[in-house]
Amino acid sequence: MKYNSLGNTGIYVSELGFGCSPLGGVFGFIEEKEAIKAVRTAIELGITYFDVSPYYGSTRAELVLGKALKGVHRDQFVLSTKVGRYDDKVFDFSKDRILKSIHESLLRLGVDELDLVFVHDVEFGSTNQIIQETLPALHAQKRAGLVKAIGVSGLPIANLREIVKTGLVDVVLSYCQYTLFNTTLGHHLNWFSEQSVGVINASPFAMGLLTNEGPPLWHPASPTIRKKCAQVANVARSRGLDLAQLAFHFSIEAKGVASTLVGMKSEAQVRKNMSWLKEPIDEEAMIWIRSRFKSIQNQIWPSGF
Ligand code: NAD
Repeated sequence: MKYNSLGNTGIYVSELGFGCSPLGGVFGFIEEKEAIKAVRTAIELGITYFDVSPYYGSTRAELVLGKALKGVHRDQFVLSTKVGRYDDKVFDFSKDRILKSIHESLLRLGVDELDLVFVHDVEFGSTNQIIQETLPALHAQKRAGLVKAIGVSGLPIANLREIVKTGLVDVVLSYCQYTLFNTTLGHHLNWFSEQSVGVINASPFAMGLLTNEGPPLWHPASPTIRKKCAQVANVARSRGLDLAQLAFHFSIEAKGVASTLVGMKSEAQVRKNMSWLKEPIDEEAMIWIRSRFKSIQNQIWPSGF
């Protein structure tokens, strides 16, 4: 496992990060015991970075993660959570909500300080409010010692760039934009590096599309994208290949990304992903599988109001 520095924050994150949305049941019900075991196993195996949000399972993911981290030395993990998104359609980027949100997250997670706080899904807010109100509120929390670094997350990279230009942001979290069928983020990595902004790349399986199990019902992908991913999963299987394994290897190789966040819901998945991390990449299979996705290359779904 490599531990990479995250922009100019002074924070180091494991190259494989634990995405905690599955702990909130976002990808199907998960027993608390199993969730805690997955987190503990991840720490044992060297994963140090955990990303969560009050939105995941309406605070359940934060509560379960807090229980899992109880008793673990604070130096052993880096924690990011988010502010501004609380339900599918509930967003509040106001200063008062942000301050309340941080205090609630600290309590649920059982820590005195958050390493990283992202403004969650900025395309659902007013960019003006985020720049004038949300980010200054987070900076006040940074000065107060409750937050170490500040970030923005979202799907459209143009929205992330617009906010980064203000110089108010330490880190960006981009998702589903560096996968087997969409490498849009790759065109922006140099620019983020020039701005001294750290990059977290989330969702190498495109939120389940690039797995044999397929995506959950709520997945926003078009029928064309869903159909293509299911087809490729089947053809890959018939050749003895696992689509998820290739998807994992493709994303983890992205240069200029400090950590790749994978959503994990069991100890078995943690162990499998850790074993994939150590394996060499099957270059021939990679070229073959990428060619299967030509017809949907760089396609993505709309996000934001
Ligand atoms: P993902 O692409 O990581 O896919 C998660 C799915 O893959 C889950 O169903 C999981 O069970 C499955 N999976 C994990 N390991 C597997 C394996 N070895 N084989 C087969 N299936 C496997 O999607 P994600 O969880 O949405 O993204 C990762 C994390 O990134 C999230 O949990 C969250 O922390 C973060 N994220 C943030 C934002 C945001 O801020 N807007 C958006 C998306 C994701």
